[in-house]
Amino acid sequence: MQFDDPDRVRSLDELKQWNYPGTALAVLGSPIAHSVSPAMHNAALNLMGQTQQLFLDWRYFKFDTPPEILPRALEQLHAAGFQGINLTIPHKVQAVDLVVEIDPGAKLSGAVNTLHRRANGWAGYNSDGYGMEQALRRELGVDLKDATVILLGAGGAARAAAVQCLQSGVAELWIGNRNQERLGGLIELLQEAPGSERVRGFDLSEPPAELPRQAVIVNATSLGLKDEDPAPIDLARFAPETKVYDMTYGVENALARSAKHYQMAYADGLSMLVWQGVRSLEIWTGAQVPAQAMMDGACHAKGYEPRRA
Ligand code: NDP
Repeated sequence: MQFDDPDRVRSLDELKQWNYPGTALAVLGSPIAHSVSPAMHNAALNLMGQTQQLFLDWRYFKFDTPPEILPRALEQLHAAGFQGINLTIPHKVQAVDLVVEIDPGAKLSGAVNTLHRRANGWAGYNSDGYGMEQALRRELGVDLKDATVILLGAGGAARAAAVQCLQSGVAELWIGNRNQERLGGLIELLQEAPGSERVRGFDLSEPPAELPRQAVIVNATSLGLKDEDPAPIDLARFAPETKVYDMTYGVENALARSAKHYQMAYADGLSMLVWQGVRSLEIWTGAQVPAQAMMDGACHAKGYEPRRA
């Protein structure tokens, strides 16, 4: 079996005769071809291997995994000796019921994106919230403690972001979504979190007049993945000191253009991707992880200009 191209999309059939001699990690998703996680993690592992021999044979692979076979895939990866797994669309929620242990924050958000090997199965974590918090701090100078946050979206990414905001002690958390039923579900789930009385929901199609004029806006909707997408909210109503973090990345979308127009600080989601990866690799290796190597790996894979992590 060939292991020298970790970026190749693999099928689970390959696990039947898996004979990689080192420590293996993987990302599972469907579709998965576009994932830059192998490039990011292998860049960090290469660097770590130069100073810590232990990591020389660690390698990260990608497997295309349709949702109906996720339970079997997790069993197969465990039997094949994998040390850790990342989960992406559409597995993060389903996997909550497939782990033998779960981190309290991940449990609260109802989603896991990082699995760590245990003797009898997998322990589940969610590093998306950590990734967002680090990205906000490093790119926009935002400390979530006592911040006023307007979170747009109520899907998987928004759940992790909302839990992180409450765990980190925001002053106010406004959550706007188009589908009110989904929004209600998220707000109910947050009742278990510390500081849930600071949460206010609103209809993203009709933002209320009392929405704060100065805030940290986090776009966790999928609007903005395509450059013809409209902005999820009209920035004209906010003060120029407002800061905008967009979980999407890869295109200069309407939200980015609008933030530039109103001279608001703006950052895209690449940094969140990198920092959630840093946290996952820390969980698996127990070691300090070179974030810049992960950023370089991600930028290279995407064909972006180099960026600072
Ligand atoms: P989900 O499918 O779980 O949620 C999608 C969200 O987008 C929902 O709130 C949905 O609202 C909203 N939405 C979709 N279309 C529209 C529309 N036309 N108008 C208004 N709202 C809309 O996706 P995820 O939560 O997993 O991901 C959300 C975004 O975050 C994606 O762009 C994803 O790529 C990004 N992401 C980035 C990460 C990073 O590391 N940078 C990590 C994880 C996610 P409704 O309920 O009304 O349908």
